[in-house]
Amino acid sequence: MILELLKKIDEYKDEMIQIRRHLHQYPELSFEEHQTKKYILDFYRDKDCQIVNNSKITGFFVKISGKNPGPTVALRADFDAIPVQEETDLPFKSKNAGVSHGCGHDGHTAYLMILAKVLIEFKDQLNGNIIIIHQHAEEKPPGGALEMIAAGCLADVDNFFSLHLISTMPYAKVFFNAKETQAARATFKVELVGRGSHGSEPHNGNDAILAASHLIIAIQSIVSRKVKPGEMAVVTIGSFDGKGSPNVIKEKVLLEGDVRCMKDEVAALIEEQFRQIAEGVAETFGVGLKIEYNQDYPVLYNDPEMTELAMQGVKDIQKHAPEIKEVAITSPLSASEDASHYLRKIPGTYFYVGAGQIDKETYPHHNPKFDLNEDALVIAAKAMIGVLARYFNWK
Ligand code: MN
Repeated sequence: MILELLKKIDEYKDEMIQIRRHLHQYPELSFEEHQTKKYILDFYRDKDCQIVNNSKITGFFVKISGKNPGPTVALRADFDAIPVQEETDLPFKSKNAGVSHGCGHDGHTAYLMILAKVLIEFKDQLNGNIIIIHQHAEEKPPGGALEMIAAGCLADVDNFFSLHLISTMPYAKVFFNAKETQAARATFKVELVGRGSHGSEPHNGNDAILAASHLIIAIQSIVSRKVKPGEMAVVTIGSFDGKGSPNVIKEKVLLEGDVRCMKDEVAALIEEQFRQIAEGVAETFGVGLKIEYNQDYPVLYNDPEMTELAMQGVKDIQKHAPEIKEVAITSPLSASEDASHYLRKIPGTYFYVGAGQIDKETYPHHNPKFDLNEDALVIAAKAMIGVLARYFNWK
């Protein structure tokens, strides 16, 4: 069966590319993917599978029930786009101003739709069940994964597999990492409220800009003095909204920022330290303080056993799919991903398929000129067949 599955992927390659290019032309932002959802749903309408569609959310999932009993595995692809104006010369460039598929989620969805189509065609030979999760809103916290889980996509699921196409990884190489694989992500907003006054009379006011400046410096001590050396941690203030007039003591300042780290206990430590320092600075300078601190995505944790199984599966399939050039171990990334929510509940693994360009320049994800090597979609589909073949013990 494995050889037949792989052959079908080659047969449907053109359709896969067409789907990807269609999605690429009509990107939609997180939680607003109504047309994208309709397009993907329509694809499944005439197919022998069960669509589970909750109309309150923009994601949905599909159940493929094998003829014979066996475990249930969930495969997930995200389909939201990002608020970046595309600046490529592609004939299928985004038609939606200010929105583009600059993270390659169009590729994820296209490969998984075709893989699902093939699996549905072979359902009479399958032992066990496959849930295809078409997830919305990966890019924007709190993320679509939580809504998908609430909609029941993990009910009776034993294991979970998903992947990301990566333009900055070499084409046709597949990368795995066990245990902590992507960072937890928190975001915060801090408002400091002093008292406005004339710039010539600071003693009649209370300067929120000065207090905010001390806070920015003080929180640099969290990573350097409180987090254990060797632990990955980043605390960034990305926005300091203190615009005023040269001769006015500023009353209010809003700071916004982002935190990344690789362990739950580090995430908790940073939040605790952050709040303590902010309260101390507010007390010292006598300013009012409002903190909104959200632990958005947890650490993405790959189950070691499932990671090993998936990696062996892709190695096995190389015999029949020599276009998969290499299967290798990679290191954890400081990026974050809401697939972490599924992996909190169900053991599984999240891996990477290299989608770098061969004969043209490669741009990183979220760059206005970002594009995938489209041939990597076939690699993704075949790699996932390798994972499933090993998991279900297909011949
Ligand atoms: Mn992404």
